[in-house]
Amino acid sequence: MAGRIERLREQLKERGVEAIFVTQPENRRYLSGFTGTAGALLITRQECYLLTDFRYLEQAAGECPGWNIYEVKESTFASLAELLGQLKVNSLACEGGFLTYKQFIDLQEKLPEAVKIIPGYDWIEELRKIKEPAEIENLRRAAELADHAFWHILDFIRPGVREEDVALELEFFLRKRGARKISFEIIVASGPRGAMPHGTASDKMLQAGELVTIDYGCEYQGYYSDLTRTVSLGPPSREQEKIYAIVLEAQVAGLAALKAGVGACAVDQAVREVIEKYGYGENFRHSTGHGVGLVVHEAPRLSKKEETVLQAGMVVTVEPGIYLPGWGGVRIEDMAVVEEEGCRLLTHAPKDELIVCG
Ligand code: ZN
Ligand code: ZN
Repeated sequence: MAGRIERLREQLKERGVEAIFVTQPENRRYLSGFTGTAGALLITRQECYLLTDFRYLEQAAGECPGWNIYEVKESTFASLAELLGQLKVNSLACEGGFLTYKQFIDLQEKLPEAVKIIPGYDWIEELRKIKEPAEIENLRRAAELADHAFWHILDFIRPGVREEDVALELEFFLRKRGARKISFEIIVASGPRGAMPHGTASDKMLQAGELVTIDYGCEYQGYYSDLTRTVSLGPPSREQEKIYAIVLEAQVAGLAALKAGVGACAVDQAVREVIEKYGYGENFRHSTGHGVGLVVHEAPRLSKKEETVLQAGMVVTVEPGIYLPGWGGVRIEDMAVVEEEGCRLLTHAPKDELIVCG
């Protein structure tokens, strides 16, 4: 954690700000290690304070060695005002993309007039883009759990089972194997519902001859996984095989393009070119992928407009899909770590051929 604070302090210095106030839960955890649900950080150029109430004092002392734990009695902003007064801090950055307008007005009222508030946008999210080895290990474990769940669910997927049953079985398996929660509401989209990129599980029954797209993940030690596979219920038709092969070719092209020094938009382009080559460009409208970490969708995005140049240690998904209204869809998604000479997959669920279930 010390390295993270140092990198943040360099930013404060560069921007001429004396301190930063952090309340966004993942940013708070990233910088301090604190996993409680109520608390705020004040990081100055010399000191680190964790402001929390009596319920979390013991937990904070255990999780945040080296931090000054400051007990909040009346309100967080009142405590912050006290502290800033004592420390004689005159400029304070806040999380401009997170603090609500009401909180901002409140903050202005509570703080001494001399304190200038500066909105910081994504300063900490920028730091979070590049993962440390321990973070990658947590992501790998979360991905491994998702892989195991895929093997498990293959035996469960068959005609007559509802999409919701599949989602429930996945969640139960993941939780039983040690995931604290699932990454997001599980997507199980069968038959024509597969044309919806975000078709969360419904009470629709799976039927023979359909494709089923499942997209899910889980949390491990605060870090998330995200995996998508499309499988076939019974022998696939030629068209189903064809669409699957195109999406797979695009996904593999994306992973092949992934390496340090390459623009995130270039990876998106590599994927899109394959799908366009076969005439399905209009049927792939979402971006190619996203960063994964303490939040399941975080920076950088792999999209047309993203300006980030990929760096070693970034962890992203590559997840093209083709969606045909009335027919259904195919999506394949893996998580990978960007490395100097390429990328390393974190998810390993099989994908080389359209898997037949039921
Ligand atoms: Zn996903
Ligand atoms: Zn994803």
